[in-house]
Amino acid sequence: MKQQATGTGFVDGRKPVGRRLRLRAPAKVNLHLEVLRRRHDGYHEIETVLQAVQLFDTLDVRLDEQWLGHAPEILVSVDGPVGGVPADETNLCWRAARLFCEQQRVSGLMRIELHKEIPTAAGLGGGSSDAAAVLVACDKLFGTNLDPVDLEKMGEALGADVPFFIHGGTMLGRGIGTILTPLPTVRACQFLIIKPSLNLSTPEVYGRLNLGLTVQSPKASIAVIKPILARFPQKTWPGFNRLEDVVLPGQPGLQRLVLELRETAVVAMLSGSGSAVYGVFPADRDLAQMAGEYSESGMFVRVVGPHPGGVEIMED
Ligand code: ATP
Repeated sequence: MKQQATGTGFVDGRKPVGRRLRLRAPAKVNLHLEVLRRRHDGYHEIETVLQAVQLFDTLDVRLDEQWLGHAPEILVSVDGPVGGVPADETNLCWRAARLFCEQQRVSGLMRIELHKEIPTAAGLGGGSSDAAAVLVACDKLFGTNLDPVDLEKMGEALGADVPFFIHGGTMLGRGIGTILTPLPTVRACQFLIIKPSLNLSTPEVYGRLNLGLTVQSPKASIAVIKPILARFPQKTWPGFNRLEDVVLPGQPGLQRLVLELRETAVVAMLSGSGSAVYGVFPADRDLAQMAGEYSESGMFVRVVGPHPGGVEIMED
């Protein structure tokens, strides 16, 4: 067979690679979420404070072979305690890898093993974080060395929360949540995250907002938020989640859970569009008993700290 060497390691348009990366993708909670208005394209303009937390999916991403001139082959497998996540072309990991290849004009055989720990349809941003992790992995594996800002831009096409997970930590999100400004990282606290079996769809929850009543002007200026966040968590935290107005009245169980948490936590609310709720407690508070009780009633329960970063490449 006639072989054609290109000087780049490609022979007949293909080259073996065999590179592998392990990454962890954090969840997020919203410390504040105001919906300002509905845009003509159906998206909603929001003002939100996003906080990454130490609840992680892990991903094993391999580039076995690289080739030129035809579409990538992307194989996704999913395991872990969270069920019901598709392992096909609808998985955000698959879509992220495909988008990266298209935009950067690279291609090859990729295998993505996703270990799912972040519950889905929870408002914890799990799928978006996985997508961000795949973009970061592709950038390393293909050696494209993109600026994080370019990865963020690419991520916008996959979901409004994807850019946040490239940086993580604590951020103010504006626009549809993709215009990000870093805030002082929240420390010295822990989050009790509870997700009942109820699943809520983000578009459906936003669709229920009566925007005639909820159109708002932006309020959360950085100058105001910074000093308040420096003292977080305190009872006087002014953040709230506007989506509670449309979610909680129809879900008495969830409403009870939020009210119960508010009796003991410094701050408690629905995360994103739910159905996960969280309570914030001082770092030295022993939450084992409370967590155990909620867990016994069949709900997903985790006690986690704030995560100062976003998606991370792990050492082997
Ligand atoms: P958000 O806060 O971004 O709204 P969420 O917790 O509501 O997040 P996800 O966990 O991102 O929702 O999942 C929403 C749906 O997306 C799932 O029900 C699932 O069918 C689909 N999905 C596609 N890819 C993934 C993935 N990698 N992880 C989880 N869900 C995925």
